[in-house]
Amino acid sequence: MTLVHVCCAPDLLSTVLKRELPEAVFYFYNPNIFPEKEYEKRLEAFKTVCRRLNLNFMEGQYDPEEFSTLFERYFDEEEGGSRCRKCVEMRLKNAAMTSGKINAKVFTSTLLASPRKSIDTINSIGREIGNAYGIEYKGGNFRTGREEIKPYLEGIYVQNYCGCEASLIKSKKDREERERKDFELLLGKFRDLAYLWRYRGRSIEFEEIPIRDESSLKEFLAILKPSGLLVKEGSELYGRNWLKAGKYNCRILRESDRHGESGQKN
Ligand code: SF4
Repeated sequence: MTLVHVCCAPDLLSTVLKRELPEAVFYFYNPNIFPEKEYEKRLEAFKTVCRRLNLNFMEGQYDPEEFSTLFERYFDEEEGGSRCRKCVEMRLKNAAMTSGKINAKVFTSTLLASPRKSIDTINSIGREIGNAYGIEYKGGNFRTGREEIKPYLEGIYVQNYCGCEASLIKSKKDREERERKDFELLLGKFRDLAYLWRYRGRSIEFEEIPIRDESSLKEFLAILKPSGLLVKEGSELYGRNWLKAGKYNCRILRESDRHGESGQKN
C-alpha cells in the first residue's frame, strides 16, 4: 500500500492523472494552512475530489497553533527558503510516521505536482525521511498542465496562496502591487476607459468595451484582468473559449455561463 500525502485538491488531481497509484491511501495533513476557514475549504475540496474519483482517503490532525509556534522565527523569510523546507519536512515526516501506523510500505506527496515548489528539494527531503523512518519514498515529478486538471475542478474550491499566514500576507501584498501597476498602465494607455476598472476580477460584457480592434482589446483585457468576457450570440467572438492576451488568458463566457463563471488560479 502507498500513502500519498496530499497538500491540496489541484495537486491531488495532477498526481492521479500523471501516476498510476494502485492501493493508495490519500492523506490530507496540512497544519500550515491559515486561517482555519481556509483549511476547511481545502479539506472539503480534497474530500470532493476523492469521492468523485473513488479514492481511499483519510485526514491528519490539524494543529495550527503548533505550526505557528514552530514557525514563528521563520515568518519573515522568503517563500522557497528555509521556512518552506521545514514546512515540507514537517508534513513528510508526519506522512512517513502515518505510513508506519497503517502498514503502508511506500509514501510520497502531491507536493511534487506543485508548480511553485522545487521538485529536487522535495525529493531529497523525502529520501532522507524515508531512510530515517525505514519506509520507501517514491519521488518523481507529478506536474501536469492546468488545462488537464481543469475539467475535474468544476465546482471545487481552488486556493490562491500557498497556505501559511506569511504566504497569505505575501500574496495580498503581491496582488495589491499588481493592481497598482495595472491601474497605472490603464491610466497611461486607456485613460478614457478608467471607469471600467470596477470590472477587475469580475465579468464584463463585450458591448461595454468600446474597442473593436482585437489586438487593442487584448491589451486592454490584459491590464483590466476581468474574470471573463461575456459575449452575445452573433458577436465575432462568439464560439471562442479564450482570448489569449500575453500571459493573461481571458475566458469567454456566454449567457449560459453567467452563473458558473469562476476566476483563475494564481
Ligand atoms: S509558503 Fe507554503 S510551503 Fe512555505 S511555509 Fe508557507 S505554507 Fe509552507
